[in-house]
Amino acid sequence: MKITIIGAGPGGYEAAIYAAKKGAEVTVIEKDKVGGTCLNRGCIPTKSLLAASEALINMKAYEKLAISGIGEPKADFAGVIERKNKVVKNLVNGIEYLFKDNNVTLIKGTGRLADPENVEVIKEDGAKEVINSDYIILAAGSAPLCPAFLGVDGKRVITSDEILDLKEAPESLIIVGGGVIGCEIGQFMSKMGTQVTIVEALPRIMATMDEDASKQLVRQFKKDKIKVITGDGIAEVSPADDHVDVTLASGKTLSASYCLAAIGRRCASEGLGLENAGIRTDEKGRVITDEYLKTDAENIYAIGDLLPSVQLAHAASKEGFTAVDNIFGENRKADYSAVPACVFTTPQLACVGKLEWELEKEGREKGRDYRTGTFDFKNLGKAQASGHIAGFVKVIADMDDVIIGAEAVGEGAGDMLQILTLAVQLKLTCSQVADCIFPHPSMCEAILEAVHDVHGMSVNKISN
Ligand code: FAD
Repeated sequence: MKITIIGAGPGGYEAAIYAAKKGAEVTVIEKDKVGGTCLNRGCIPTKSLLAASEALINMKAYEKLAISGIGEPKADFAGVIERKNKVVKNLVNGIEYLFKDNNVTLIKGTGRLADPENVEVIKEDGAKEVINSDYIILAAGSAPLCPAFLGVDGKRVITSDEILDLKEAPESLIIVGGGVIGCEIGQFMSKMGTQVTIVEALPRIMATMDEDASKQLVRQFKKDKIKVITGDGIAEVSPADDHVDVTLASGKTLSASYCLAAIGRRCASEGLGLENAGIRTDEKGRVITDEYLKTDAENIYAIGDLLPSVQLAHAASKEGFTAVDNIFGENRKADYSAVPACVFTTPQLACVGKLEWELEKEGREKGRDYRTGTFDFKNLGKAQASGHIAGFVKVIADMDDVIIGAEAVGEGAGDMLQILTLAVQLKLTCSQVADCIFPHPSMCEAILEAVHDVHGMSVNKISN
């Protein structure tokens, strides 16, 4: 069986290797570097940079552990960027090696559907090749959303693509959008010495999380001296040679060295030749599939940021596996009931499943339709011992005790979330999780206490 995949991001490259392991003859077409947005301009570069800002924040806290002599730690911005580039390069090489090791053919070039069975590739040297296959997986990903009113020029008004390669830390930065990209980059830049202002149109930053989580982040941002403006939009952005002026909807004016557009991403379906295979898109250009990730063409699947579902690397990879399994004759639906989402700021914010704000929006009432249990890190032995006392775990359960959502904030929240993701995915009850033994002392004990708290039985909870 021949499968051709357009795009080698986390969706496409993992699907390719998975399909090859299942015995398919796989060709991947990639117009840039393998690893896609995630590895080259997204997850990995930002986390490499955040490792530096996190270290700076934690170094300050070492004094609480009775360690002295640290002085005023400072990052070498160019060195931090260079380290990030090395991390990315290593991982890009790793994927290319995995392709070779699994007999996946990589063609460097731009692919488009010529018809439902043929992909036309314009290679890097300009040569054209047509690849015929039994199945095609579209995994072309996304690009920063740059509406005209933001005036993105790649010089003073930039996106996450450009900011990751600045040569020096800007004196000041206005970030439009207080979502995950804006918050992560904002905190990194502030720790590099940049005066950061985040402008968010919604009433709070990180509005995809519950309010208790956003509040913890805002508390840290105050310490970081990041200015957060909420409930205000952008009226005008005027770039000049050496700075940019921004007028807010309220009439307030701001000025900074750079403005970062971080208001979301648009799917990269343009130019894929979808019309040649009769594949429909929605009003935002996102590829329409059925629940099995099959497009309007019988033999063509689509995955990752091209879809209207969620724009996360691990979701793209999972969709890739689902599409491949379906190509191999299984009947698997894409399942989004337990997609973990993390913000790797300090503190980390992490959530899975249904959150309280969503339940409230659906008109569901606490105590009648769902219950919550919470536990603050400060009441945890491990948190006190390690000095990481800011944060909490919240578990949300339906009235049958089934865990339907959860949130963790603070040290290790991203990793801790996996236990809660398993619980939501496997529809475990609070009682089942409460019956497990958790290692002591560990931050994960906050999960155990939170599930007990759903029943009002948390032994170590101190009532407010
Ligand atoms: P992509 O990763 O975008 O890959 C698509 C690939 O297709 C690209 O390599 C592109 O060059 C190629 N391509 C496109 N068109 C063609 C064509 N016509 N021919 C050939 N090749 C083509 N997600 C997380 O889960 N965790 C995070 O911490 C996280 N952090 C992020 C931070 C930032 C700053 C950004 C921008 C994103 C972040 N994301 C994160 C989101 C994550 O990067 C995406 O959800 C993920 O990369 C989507 O994977 P994908 O395979 O669908 O597409």
